[in-house]
Amino acid sequence: MKRCAFVNLNDPLYVAYHDKEWAVAKHDDHILFELLILESFQAGLSWECILKKRENFRRAFDNFDVNIVSEYDEAKVEELLNDASIIRNKLKVKASINNAKVFKDIQLEFGSFDAYIWGFTNGQVIFEAYDIQTSSFLSDMISKDLKNRGMKFVGTTIIYSYLQAIGIINGHSKECFYHIDNKKRSL
Ligand SMILES: [Zn+2]
Repeated sequence: MKRCAFVNLNDPLYVAYHDKEWAVAKHDDHILFELLILESFQAGLSWECILKKRENFRRAFDNFDVNIVSEYDEAKVEELLNDASIIRNKLKVKASINNAKVFKDIQLEFGSFDAYIWGFTNGQVIFEAYDIQTSSFLSDMISKDLKNRGMKFVGTTIIYSYLQAIGIINGHSKECFYHIDNKKRSL
């Protein structure tokens, strides 16, 4: 079976992520929040590295409950910075708490984060093979809007990757088995 070229076929976790999760349209605020935080932690690192630590992140971050994360205090920040099983980067840890607060503001304003983020494409999926680009007009626009709302670690490359993860941009290459299949899949 042929897959997108970026997938490390020796890593079952990465293969499963590519096959079952990546580019599948997601509309649940809980998973939209989890992936946003994981993508922000990815900055400067590989997605494979984040995937390997994903269960550790879930445990450390109260299963990405946005209400709990948005209330983290200094003691919790210290606890996270002492947790060797996740990415111990103070700016990223602080950003995740800050971004949780902004995420909640967006939920209040739009009814859900899902409504906000899919509103940029009127609910439509954009088919754009990953090997061509790592940012776009759409990711520029959303990155700028999230920054204006106060989010950190949401540069256009991170947001492009996020949009691929949550299925607004379907990045499966034409050669990939999942290229057409994913049009019909959603979570
Ligand atoms: Zn693919």
